[in-house]
Order: sequence, then C-alpha cells, then structure tokens
Amino acid sequence: MNYITNIPEPGDMKRLVIIGGGFAGLELAKKINKKQFQVVLIDKNNYYQFQPLFYQVASCGLEPSSISYPHRKNFQKSKNFHFRMCEAQLVVPEDKYVKTNIGDIKYDYLIIATGCDTNYFGNDSLKENTFPLKSVSESLLLRNRILLSFEEALSARNEDDLKEILSFVVVGGGATGVELAGALADMKKSILPKDYPETDFSKMDIHLVDASPRLLSGMSENASAGAAKALTKRGVIIHQDISVKSYEKPSVELSDGTRISSRNVFWVAGVKPNSIKGLSDTSYNRGRLSVNEYNQVNGYDNIFAIGDTSLLLSDSTPKGHPQVAQVALQMARQLAKNLNKTSDANKWTKFSYVDKGSLATIGRNAAVADLGKFRFGGWFAWWLWLFIHIISIVGMRNKVSIFIDWVWSYLNYDVSLRLFIRPKFNKMYKEE
Ligand SMILES: Cc1cc2nc3c(=O)[nH]c(=O)nc-3n(C[C@H](O)[C@H](O)[C@H](O)COP(=O)(O)OP(=O)(O)OC[C@H]3O[C@@H](n4cnc5c(N)ncnc54)[C@H](O)[C@@H]3O)c2cc1C
Repeated sequence: MNYITNIPEPGDMKRLVIIGGGFAGLELAKKINKKQFQVVLIDKNNYYQFQPLFYQVASCGLEPSSISYPHRKNFQKSKNFHFRMCEAQLVVPEDKYVKTNIGDIKYDYLIIATGCDTNYFGNDSLKENTFPLKSVSESLLLRNRILLSFEEALSARNEDDLKEILSFVVVGGGATGVELAGALADMKKSILPKDYPETDFSKMDIHLVDASPRLLSGMSENASAGAAKALTKRGVIIHQDISVKSYEKPSVELSDGTRISSRNVFWVAGVKPNSIKGLSDTSYNRGRLSVNEYNQVNGYDNIFAIGDTSLLLSDSTPKGHPQVAQVALQMARQLAKNLNKTSDANKWTKFSYVDKGSLATIGRNAAVADLGKFRFGGWFAWWLWLFIHIISIVGMRNKVSIFIDWVWSYLNYDVSLRLFIRPKFNKMYKEE
C-alpha cells in the first residue's frame, strides 16, 4: 500500500471518501456534516461540469467556464474537507482503501458517484470516427469541428465534397440529440449566412438518427410529437426507428440501407457506467452497482453508490431509475441525511424518487415539457427551460454570465462564441 500521506488522519471522526464530484458526489459533499465526517472528494477533473448544457458549448452558445465550477472554490470555507484531483482505479474493500493514480486513500465510508461515459456498444468504427459529448473538453472539440466545417466549406473542391462537409449527423434522439440538432438548425438559419455569405447554406443538411420508435422516448408521446414537429419545421431530417450500422469516413451507413456522406457525426446515443472495479461480482449488474434502498452496494455496509452508476431495482422500478440529474441529487440528499443522523442503518430512511418532470429544448422559442399531468410545448416551455437551467447552475458568476449570453443571443439572433481555439500539442497535457 502506498497511502497518500498529506491528508491528515481523521482522528475521532470517520473518513468519508467520495469518488466523483458530479451532480451526486458534489451534492453529497455539500450536504454531509463535516463536523461529523472528514470528507475526501476525488475527481479526475478539478471542476464540476453541468452536463445538460454541454450542447450549448458545442453550438457556440456558452463558454465552457460558464457551465463548470472548480471543486476547490466550492469548498474554500469548509473545514475537514480535502480534494484530490486523481483517478480512482480500484477499491480494496478488505483493507478499506481506494487505489488511485496518485496513491492509496483509506476510508471508513466510501461513496461511488462516478457517473457514466459514452457507450459505442462495441462498435470501434463509431468510437474512432464520431464525436461524443460527455465532457466539457469534448464539447469544445465538437464546437471546433462544427466551426472547422464552415471554414472547410469555403475551399470545397466540388459539390460532393461540399455535401460531405456540410452534412451533420446527430445520432441519438434523446434530449441531447434533439437539442443539438435544434441548435444547429438555428445556427443555419440566423448566424451562418451572415458569417459566411459566400456559402450556400441550402446545401447544409442536419440529420437526426434515432433507433427508438419516437424521439425523447423517456418523455410523453406529446413531447415526442412536439419535438419531431418543431425539428422538421426547422429543416432537420429525422431518421426514426433506424440505427447507425457503421461509419467508415465519410460514409455513414444506416440500418435501412441509407448512406449519408458526412465528416461530422456526433454520437449522443448511449451511456455506460464508470463503475470502479474491485467489489464482489454480485455488486455489479450490467456494469452498474446494485444498491438497496439506502444506496448501500450489494454485499457492503460501508460502501454506497449514488447517481448514474447505481442501480436500484424494486417493484416500482424494475429497470432502475432514469439516469438523470434529479435522481442523482435526490439520492445524494437522502444518503447525506441518513449518514448525518446515525450510523445505525436500522434508523435510516429509504430512498424514494420524486419525479419533478422533464423538459427539453428544440431551439429558439421552442421546447417541450412534461410536468406531472401538464404536458405543453412552445415558448412558455422554452422560457421555463431557460429559468430552470439558470437556477440549477453552480456559481453566481456562472448564472449571471449565462443570463447575459442568452439575453444577448435572444435579442441579436446571434451566439458570440464562434472561436476556433485549438491547443498546440504539449506533453504536459495527459489524455483525459
Ligand atoms: C450531454 C448530456 C446532457 C444531459 N442532459 C440532461 C438533462 O437535460 N436533464 C437531466 O436531468 N439529466 C441530463 N443528463 C444526465 C445527467 O447529466 C446525469 O444524470 C448526471 O450527471 C448524473 O450525475 P452523477 O453524479 O451520477 O454523474 P456525473 O455528473 O457524470 O459525475 C461523475 C463524476 O465522476 C468523475 N469520475 C468518473 N470516474 C472517475 C474515476 N475513476 N475517478 C475519479 N473521478 C471519476 C467524473 O469526472 C465526474 O465528475 C445529461 C447528460 C449528458 C451527458
């Protein structure tokens, strides 16, 4: 064992280690009583990322710093709190420690909140050639790819070349796919003709490919129909109930035999859990960590999993909970309440999810909402979407800057962040 020595011993307190500072891990770190527990938060990034707005960074609407927040800043005033930027590699439950790339960390309680990563379902051609959207850095890469296309279009050698450059294929008809396709359609209409007057944007195609029978399959049929209508009105070509078979650049092959020539394939079609290895086989279920109603991982009293990586099966949730932010936040709050109250699990309250509803935006003045019995769309849903995202974002500066960016782009039909900034290769940056 190679323990990290510069984290002080917890003394009379118990040490609670949280792996992952996303929605679930960060909320738990905030809510846990730091007079009772010494908290060690580890994350491979030194900042929190607000994933629902990745597509806005990718489509030039927001700066990456507006949707990210440094972990250290969040906890500047907290005592008994320690952050280490590192990657957890293995849990050793017998000896109660976590192996990381910077050393080992002992725990009394371990919380695994590592979320998910992009799932290519074993298809290597898709992994190598498409652009995912699961981190701020990937959002920036996608933004660069989008901007580069319009520059490349100006030096297209012929019509086929131009078609390939100006075809955008978004794979995945969940909220992210719908939002990204809608944002591209808005750019095509209002911004691009002004920036690139020499380019004929009637040749720009936006395809949305979705393997499920309807868009936004986690929402109501009303929302699906509303999203499909709004996207079609914006010129998006929807390939419904069809999957992508392969992508050998520049040809995307769909399951119905259609081929689309495109240099821009954006993969937002699935996620897989980032569960840490080392626990007993019975703790994992399809890669996720099986938990009971107290979020204890199957087989362990002192190891918990919350958020996207956890799987809580019950009669009311035979397939588990949706992998969304509200589930992650509510699991974190319940667990913090239980641990703050007592170490006696018999006195804990079981987790029970309260579904507050879903919203998805399609573009300017267009969104769909399922809020309890209320299902509606249009500009009111869009304003509601804006409001809810502003209040949910972490950090006052971020709230203000997002508000200003959105008001500016609403009034000017413009997004201001069309900068193609690429890093010069440098050995100090390791791959994420
Ligand atoms: C593009 C996109 C759009 C989305 N839109 C919505 C939406 O509109 N509404 C909604 O409710 N949900 C949305 N979601 C889903 C939502 O973001 C997730 O449900 C939520 O982030 C889950 O929270 P979590 O804490 O479980 O995981 P995450 O928020 O993913 O956090 C996991 C954290 O763990 C860290 N980590 C992972 N592995 C390790 C390791 N080995 N060592 C150290 N650190 C590690 C990561 O760096 C990350 O900080 C969206 C997701 C994406 C990708």
